Amino acid sequence: MAQLYAQVILPLSLHDAYTYKVPASLESAVVPGKRVIVQFGARKLYAALVSSLSLTKPDNVEEIKEIQEVLDEHPVVLTRNFQLWHWMAQYYCCTLGDVFRAALPTGLKLESKTKVFLTGSEEEAELSETESLMLREIENETNILADLQRKLGTSFSYSTLKALMNKNLVYAEEKISRKYRPKTEGFVKLNSSITSEKELSKKLELLKRAKKQEALLHHFCDLTRVFEPDALPEISKKELLHGTSFAPALVKGLAEKHILVDYQKQVSRLDEEQIEQVSINMLNKYQAKALEEIKHEFETQQVVLIHGITASGKTEIYIHLIDEILKSGKQALYLVPEIALTTQIVQRLKNVFGHKVGIYHSKLNSQERVEIWEKTLLFAEKPDEGYQVILGARSGVFLPFSDLGLIIVDEEHENSFKQFDPAPRYNARDMAVVMGYQNQAKVVLGSATPSYESYHNALAQKYGLVNLTKRHSEMELPEIVVADMKRAYKRKEMHSVLTPQLFELVESALENKEQVILFQNRRGYSPYVECFSCGNIPKCERCDVSLTYHKYKKRLTCHYCGFSYQLPERCDECGSPEIKTRGFGTEKIEDEIKQLFRNARIDRMDLDTTQTKNAFEKIVGKLEKRKTDILIGTQMVTKGLDFDHVSVVGILNADNLINFPDFRAHERAFQLISQVAGRAGRKHKRGKVVIQTTQPEHPLIDLISRQDFKQAMKLQFEERQLFKYPPFYRLIKIVVKHKNLETVDRVAKHLADFLRKNRSLVILGPEFPMISRIQLWHHKEIWIKIDRKLPLDQVKSGIMEAVKAVKSAPSNSNSQINIDVDPF
Ligand code: ADP
Ligand code: ZN
Ligand code: ZN
Repeated sequence: MAQLYAQVILPLSLHDAYTYKVPASLESAVVPGKRVIVQFGARKLYAALVSSLSLTKPDNVEEIKEIQEVLDEHPVVLTRNFQLWHWMAQYYCCTLGDVFRAALPTGLKLESKTKVFLTGSEEEAELSETESLMLREIENETNILADLQRKLGTSFSYSTLKALMNKNLVYAEEKISRKYRPKTEGFVKLNSSITSEKELSKKLELLKRAKKQEALLHHFCDLTRVFEPDALPEISKKELLHGTSFAPALVKGLAEKHILVDYQKQVSRLDEEQIEQVSINMLNKYQAKALEEIKHEFETQQVVLIHGITASGKTEIYIHLIDEILKSGKQALYLVPEIALTTQIVQRLKNVFGHKVGIYHSKLNSQERVEIWEKTLLFAEKPDEGYQVILGARSGVFLPFSDLGLIIVDEEHENSFKQFDPAPRYNARDMAVVMGYQNQAKVVLGSATPSYESYHNALAQKYGLVNLTKRHSEMELPEIVVADMKRAYKRKEMHSVLTPQLFELVESALENKEQVILFQNRRGYSPYVECFSCGNIPKCERCDVSLTYHKYKKRLTCHYCGFSYQLPERCDECGSPEIKTRGFGTEKIEDEIKQLFRNARIDRMDLDTTQTKNAFEKIVGKLEKRKTDILIGTQMVTKGLDFDHVSVVGILNADNLINFPDFRAHERAFQLISQVAGRAGRKHKRGKVVIQTTQPEHPLIDLISRQDFKQAMKLQFEERQLFKYPPFYRLIKIVVKHKNLETVDRVAKHLADFLRKNRSLVILGPEFPMISRIQLWHHKEIWIKIDRKLPLDQVKSGIMEAVKAVKSAPSNSNSQINIDVDPF
């Protein structure tokens, strides 16, 4: 028979496809979508993914290796999912290997490790000091080469290892170990040879002398109601022995007498608690109208943007849409930003859809992620057991859906849908749209403050547009007050960080037993410290940023690399003891607010207070139960949280939002402030929002306070068109990194010159970004603005070629060049 070849995707950033021979014995087992073990390079083994099969030998390679083993019984990736992978690699200028690494949960990605073992040879050999040191480590069961290297530190060398191998004392082997292990539990059932009550009585009779075994068998029969109509076929050993004094050995004894069977069974790691099912909420009349409009748009559109103000009840509309798609037998994917995956939304969905829902996000451990992956796959074969709905963060787009009918992207403007590093640098919102077309699934993008890209698409009628302008249950949008900080400072009217307006509102909210949220987009105590005598500002040694002071830990910390050290008592430069904190982070705000409102219960929500498991939920829970009066927080407070008694929201400093040097600053500031403001005044009364700024006359502040989304966007559109930014132009950002400053300069310039040969592109830079050094790597950026009329694929392959050419110059070899398509 002709030789069969398999093309595989390796979990590496390689541009070419790799072909392996399929040995005759594996021909029926090798199928696209299954993982196989292959050798790549001199030694290393990987779990690669079969992408296709063919009978023709590729002509560009001489020696073709064989597939060593097939890992899966069923494909773990479906051929229809590969479509998305190919699209991604092409669009985001990365490799299929990059997509593979991003797509599969860690538990399904395997690569070999080199291990060293003792040969057990008895021969006498003379050993050097380093050799005996290494041998002793191996004797102590440090078998993984990388561990050996780490443990021995500078005393490790390959020549020592080689010497030991030559002396026939140790040998090395590549070993691949499976990361995912199914969880099993002990179960017990009646031996199948016992088929009637009578036979069972006979067995019991035989146990007259083994009182304990007899008692256990009785207990087993009671629990399983054996031979009754509702008998349980089996019971877990844990349940059987729970609350009894029976020893596990008794089960073994009964099994040896062929009365019971004692065995291991695979069980789920996922939380499968009984869920109290509730019926779907009735839509209010505005929601019902919006739902009808969405369905009407779907008659002609694949994608619909729903622009619904905060608390208009978009979630309820999504739930109705999902319900309908489930009834038609298809699957639904519901994407939310990572931090919006709170118990509130998870619980709501589980209550309505029960065990049909799987939750997929980065806080799950790798074993749990594998099980969700498998239950999504299972839907194709056993729709009742597999997941029909996935609620997930951005990586949810990779799950192996077999019959997707609907994708929802809530808070579609959020930048956490974008993966920054490593490649693929994709945007899950955009991937959702592509998946919609590929699977003929409908797509709903929802937001109170849509991204300008999506709104532009809606205006251009590429997407349907549905508006929802009424809040649920007659709530009103909050009243927005702009407070002039400059004036208050001048008149010495500030109460610490609060303008008189905000101070009074907080006071009266506390009096009325209402809650307050204060927003500041900086964590830590103060963004930097400064020497009062010489003006020195401590900076990170590895990054080009000032160090943030964290008072609780008394440390200066770099928010880019984590580097931190004790706050020095004296200035490093001049020795003066007068080191002053500058600016306000959430930690300092908390201190100040505690001084101002001594009886208030104050809590803080930021990256520092939500590190531990469930910390986020605890803070939310305390606010919900009204155990917190004032919550101080960063961006985190803006996401998908519903609180009924928050009457005042303060934006402590809007200046650093609107003055951020980025073409999206205004769009972001509008989004962020509107989202924070949306937390105010939920069910019972109209809330108030105070925006503190030193630029009250800034046009954007006025637009935000009037919540005039369309006018704000219109003004931005004019600027973006003029300066060639999205949505009118496409952007590609190229980042060149090197540890050496001159090299980064040279390589970036070389690349930019190369790119400028294509005269139809607008090329900016190379320039240093705002933070030009991170973890010892210098960065330089080149921005490419691409006219939408240009053929994008051609432009991209030109860029990739330029990058390849520059990288392949020998003197540039240690530089990193990353391509980011649609940077955020
Ligand atoms: P949005 O996502 O548009 O900001 P939500 O979907 O979070 O708004 O809804 C705001 C609040 O109103 C939630 O507490 C939600 O439970 C409630 N709500 C919205 N619509 C309904 C409805 N039709 N029936 C009952 N409660 C609703
Ligand atoms: Zn100094
Ligand atoms: Zn740093």
